Amino acid sequence: MSSTFHISACPVCSSSQFTVFTEVPDWLVSKEAYTISQCNSCNFKFTSNAPTAENIGPYYNSEEYVEHSDTKSGVIYSVYHYARKLMLNFKLSKIKKSTEGKKLLDVGSGSGYFINHMKQNGYDVTGVEISDKAVELCKDKFGIHAKNPEEFLAGKLDTDYDIISLWHVFEHVYTYDEYFELFSKSLKKDGTLILALPNSDSPDAKLYGKYWAAYDTPRHLWHFTPDTLSRFAEARGFKVVKKYRLPLDPFFNSMVSASYKPGFTFLPISVLKGLYSLIISFFNKEKSSSLIYFLKKK
Ligand SMILES: [Zn+2]
Repeated sequence: MSSTFHISACPVCSSSQFTVFTEVPDWLVSKEAYTISQCNSCNFKFTSNAPTAENIGPYYNSEEYVEHSDTKSGVIYSVYHYARKLMLNFKLSKIKKSTEGKKLLDVGSGSGYFINHMKQNGYDVTGVEISDKAVELCKDKFGIHAKNPEEFLAGKLDTDYDIISLWHVFEHVYTYDEYFELFSKSLKKDGTLILALPNSDSPDAKLYGKYWAAYDTPRHLWHFTPDTLSRFAEARGFKVVKKYRLPLDPFFNSMVSASYKPGFTFLPISVLKGLYSLIISFFNKEKSSSLIYFLKKK
C-alpha cells in the first residue's frame, strides 16, 4: 500500500468523502487499471491509486510519451510537428495579448520548443525540467540549459518573474501546494501564472469515456474542469483572469483516444469527433478539450 499515492482530503475543498467515478487503464505503458475518484462535495476528480512520486518513473518510459523526438515518421507525427509550430505561435500571441513583461519561467519545459520560441521573440527565458533526456535535447538543439526542479523547489531561482507557465504539466504534479507557494513567491506582484490543462468536462472526454487520452492514468493525477481549477486556485491565493481554448487539442485527444479503442479505427471519424468538440467549445468555452488559464495573485 505504501507504494500508492493516497489522497485523504480533497485538494479543492478538503472533504474526505469520495465516490468512484470510473476505472481507466494505463493504455500507454503498464495496462494496469486505475481508479478515478470524485469528491462528493465539489466534484473534483483525481486518480486515487496512482503510484507514489518515487515509483512513477517507469510509467513515463514510453516512446509515445515524448514530445521530444523529431525522428518519428507517419501521418500523426507529421501533423503533430506542423501543429506544434502553429501552437507555438498561438501561445505567443495569447501571452503577448494578456501579460506584461518578458521574464518567463517555464516549468516542465521538455525539449525546449516553447522556451526557444519565446526567446527568439525577445523573452528572457528559464526552463525547469525533470527528464535528463529532455534537458540534453534542449541543450543540444537550442543551446538552452534547463534547471532541475530541485533548484526551483529549493527556492534557488529568481523571485521576479513576469510569467510562470506550465503547459500540460500541473496535472502531473504531486506536491501541488508546494508548487503553488513557489508560484506565489517567484512571481512579481502583478505577474501571471499560466496553466494549460485538459478538461474532463469536455465533449471528447464524454464521448471517449475510459478511452479518453487525457485521463492518461496514472501519470495524470488531477482531472480539472474550469470550475474545480478556479476553486483550487482561489484556495491558494490565485484567481483566474482569462481563459483560452487550445484549438488543436480536441483533434489530438480524439485521435489518440480512438487508437486506444479495440478494433478498427477509422481516422476521419475521430477527426469529426474532435471537430464536434471544438464546435461545442465555440458556444461554451468551459467545454473546451483543454484550456489555458491565466491567473493572477489575489
Ligand atoms: Zn472537493
